[in-house]
Amino acid sequence: MSLALFDLAGRRALITGSGQGIGNAIARGLAAAGASVVLNGRDGAKLEAARADIPGATAHVFDVTDQPAVTAAIDRIERDEGPIDILVNNAGIQRRAPLQDMPAETWHEVMKTNIDSVFYVGQAVARKMIPRGQGKIINICSLTSEAGRQTIAPYTTAKGAVRMLTKGMCADWARFGMQINGIGPGYFRTPLNKALIEDPKFNAWVEQRTPAGRWGELEELQGAAIFLASDASRFVNGHILYVDGGLLAVI
Ligand code: NDP
Repeated sequence: MSLALFDLAGRRALITGSGQGIGNAIARGLAAAGASVVLNGRDGAKLEAARADIPGATAHVFDVTDQPAVTAAIDRIERDEGPIDILVNNAGIQRRAPLQDMPAETWHEVMKTNIDSVFYVGQAVARKMIPRGQGKIINICSLTSEAGRQTIAPYTTAKGAVRMLTKGMCADWARFGMQINGIGPGYFRTPLNKALIEDPKFNAWVEQRTPAGRWGELEELQGAAIFLASDASRFVNGHILYVDGGLLAVI
């Protein structure tokens, strides 16, 4: 009974931005728990390599900031492969500059990718889930959903909004048998954090600032994702689960 609650056999999971990094680790975790995974990204070659590495996975190239392309892709996936039971809104970008120098185009690029896309993909998938009376949505938040940091104001603004959109989705969609929650990763080594990984001062800061004393390992996000994608979390709604080695628990 207890372990069966986490079994994802027979479920289909779409993970946006899953050709690399956190999205790819979550896709592998959901696949290991039995789900059929649908990968997404813009780079077809990268996505094909990722697809070939996960048994049974399929891959769909589309840009999550392009609403008509998103709607067409969701229709195509459901028609050709079957219902999407689990959606992980993971695709995201980082752009760094002091806010006084931040070009407006950069601001809009980050907003489109990190928050508008969560609405576009979330709404398109929810419109399929609502008539079925079930569905799981997991939105990837951040420590910056809770706190700011120098040079990344557009990112922190968008990630704060993802946290609140998770609650808004819960408010509107929980009544249809859906669970909508977030995962807030701490610091993980991925291409998104290249500038930080290459900075020895930042590395020392992470190790000192994080109660666990280290960066996270990508596999350490899989348990939270499996939990929030499975029946084990069926009365958990509108919650953000931080996987951060305790960073947010201390000052
Ligand atoms: P990466 O840069 O490694 O991966 C980002 C992924 O998003 C890529 O696969 C990229 O694929 C995809 N992507 C970007 N833009 C689009 C788009 N317009 N349409 C479709 N796919 C897109 O980043 P991470 O794995 O680090 O980040 C994943 C998520 O986790 C992000 O939301 C990030 O904000 C969040 N996060 C990361 C943390 C970390 O420590 N790394 C901490 C907290 C949150 P492609 O290039 O093929 O489009």
